[in-house]
Amino acid sequence: MAHVKLHIPGPVEVSEKTFKAFCTPMIGHRGQGFKDLYAKMQPQLQTLLSTKQLVYLSTSSAWGVMEGSIRNLVHKKVLNCMCGAFSDKWLDVSKKCGKQAEGLQVEWGSPIRAELIDKKLATGEFDALTLIHNETSTGTMSPLAEIAALKKKYPDVMFIVDAVSSLTALPINFDELGIDVLLAGTQKAFALPPGLAVFTASPAALAKAATTKDRGYYFDFVEFEKNAKDSMTPSTPSISHIYALSSKLDDFFAEGLANRFARHAKTNQLTRDWAAKHGFTLFPEKGYESVTLTCVNNGAKADGGRTVDVAKLQKLVKDQGFLIDGGYGKIKGLTFRLSNMGDETEATMGQLYAALDKAMTQL
Ligand SMILES: *Cc1c(COP(=O)(O)O)cnc(C)c1O
Repeated sequence: MAHVKLHIPGPVEVSEKTFKAFCTPMIGHRGQGFKDLYAKMQPQLQTLLSTKQLVYLSTSSAWGVMEGSIRNLVHKKVLNCMCGAFSDKWLDVSKKCGKQAEGLQVEWGSPIRAELIDKKLATGEFDALTLIHNETSTGTMSPLAEIAALKKKYPDVMFIVDAVSSLTALPINFDELGIDVLLAGTQKAFALPPGLAVFTASPAALAKAATTKDRGYYFDFVEFEKNAKDSMTPSTPSISHIYALSSKLDDFFAEGLANRFARHAKTNQLTRDWAAKHGFTLFPEKGYESVTLTCVNNGAKADGGRTVDVAKLQKLVKDQGFLIDGGYGKIKGLTFRLSNMGDETEATMGQLYAALDKAMTQL
């Protein structure tokens, strides 16, 4: 069957080069070959996350590290900032880990604002918070720098940030932000196959984790740090993913991070332009739109924007070889999402817009 190219916001299209790297013959994970591979990537990862801390590799999807952050860092109570499907779920996950947890819920499509967090943290009840930088279900980006600035006021609160669908698409300076955990799964903005997560933790987070009982083993931050010092992982990683990541990091730096960021900004703007050209409005609140995907309003917000039969649009586009997303969770059909993350260029996005244009004439 012919491959349908992925323009859903994860997993995204994986390049031939990446797949080739993925298929590199296997090596042992305690041997020098693996250590050399990880050691070669470490400075690239540190540059990507703008950190002096070691960057860890977890064979899990993002949720492994999202849950692990809760298990390692919550002693008192966690504030889960909620503005969409992924961030909403983090509250359930915290509770399932047996932690005291409270949701800070805003309407889907709205960002999380620093003032709201400030008010909650001022109660003194919390020792951790979770934030999704780019809520993929709604295409909404929260103002990370403003939120991270609160860390100065609440130094003992662990700031846990998911950048699954934003890391590599715009600068995120871990050390300068002063946050405690930054994590990303690799099947979104990294454009790798699903099954690997990348993360780092602050010295304060590592110190706190060391005092946490029942933090488990597989996602024990202390184990990750200890092993990373020797360019190893606590348990047998998906070495294939790590070969693929190494290839991808070479791609990032060959392109140049600034160029990569500019490319995402440009292709995202083109997608917004495509939506506007057809009379659609966007779902996120103005000024907080994601740069890696576009969540098009299709009746979720009654703002005079155009609506279409999303299932039909998806099928018409799929028949031309492209998979787009028909909306997530409670906004399925009331929105649709177009991804520009990963390797997409103006040229490749142009092919998607052409297919969409054609589909629009057939609805
Ligand atoms: C996709 C996604 C996740 C969940 O990732 P899994 O790979 O399913 O664990 C978490 N957060 C965000 C922002 C996502 O986009």
